[in-house]
Amino acid sequence: MAGTLIVTGGGRGIGAAVSMLAAARSWRVGVNYRQNGEAARRVVADIDAAGGQALAVQADVARPEEVERLFHEVNTAFGPLTGLVNNAGLLERQARVEELDAARLHRVLETNVVGAFLCAGAAVRQMSTRRGGAGGVIVNVSSRAAVLGSAGEYVDYAAAKAAVDTLTVGLAREVAAEGIRVCGVRPGLIDTEIHALGGEPGRVARLSSTVPLGRGGLPAEVAHAIVWLLSAEASYVTGTTLDVSGGR
Ligand code: NAP
Repeated sequence: MAGTLIVTGGGRGIGAAVSMLAAARSWRVGVNYRQNGEAARRVVADIDAAGGQALAVQADVARPEEVERLFHEVNTAFGPLTGLVNNAGLLERQARVEELDAARLHRVLETNVVGAFLCAGAAVRQMSTRRGGAGGVIVNVSSRAAVLGSAGEYVDYAAAKAAVDTLTVGLAREVAAEGIRVCGVRPGLIDTEIHALGGEPGRVARLSSTVPLGRGGLPAEVAHAIVWLLSAEASYVTGTTLDVSGGR
């Protein structure tokens, strides 16, 4: 049975697809965003129109006080959390490692790694049976970049996602006896606006011939894997990360 879910970065791209699919599966969804409130409110309106329950909440996942407020607001609106999708993520302009300065490295690690850890910690504090919670599921959105390395594009982002994979393994073992499963997905080339951040909005089209399935993926195809991992159908799955990448 579904419960209360937070999707970080839930207003656009993969996060928006997760928010909508999860709401259709009866999750009450906190749709987090950092700056694009219009997109998040559109997702909430679509969920409302379909008879679901959702709330848009602004918060930068890299800021501890904003993460606390996000989890508090969603708890107040919808009751204690039973699901978290650590989806918020970013990358920066394509560059070689020798060109990366410290400020960029901090920005990339803060959202992708510190943000995922802060949200996971806040979720465990609400969900752990050790703390009186009802248990739950955390799904971390990694990337095939963690394995492929993103040479010449963004090795910093790839390394951040490798840290997310390690969070999945370690936290899963840490909280397995407390009613919490922790899983991950590694999307491949998915058609969203993230590629424009790297300076190449057409990246998926350029690389689609390198995907064994012969095309880029859709946000909804990643969302289906995530919502399955959140569900009771995945009750014996923890500490593992599923590639959703068309074989790439
Ligand atoms: P996207 O369309 O660019 O959306 C990114 C989302 O993250 C936006 O909703 C954005 O909020 C939010 N966000 C970014 N930084 C944030 C922060 N500090 N605090 C809160 N929210 C923040 O990207 P996407 O492609 O859907 O990516 C979603 C996840 O999938 C990311 O973790 C990404 O690394 C991963 N991924 C994507 C691909 C791909 O090919 N698309 C492949 C592998 C992995 P605003 O809307 O407010 O800007």
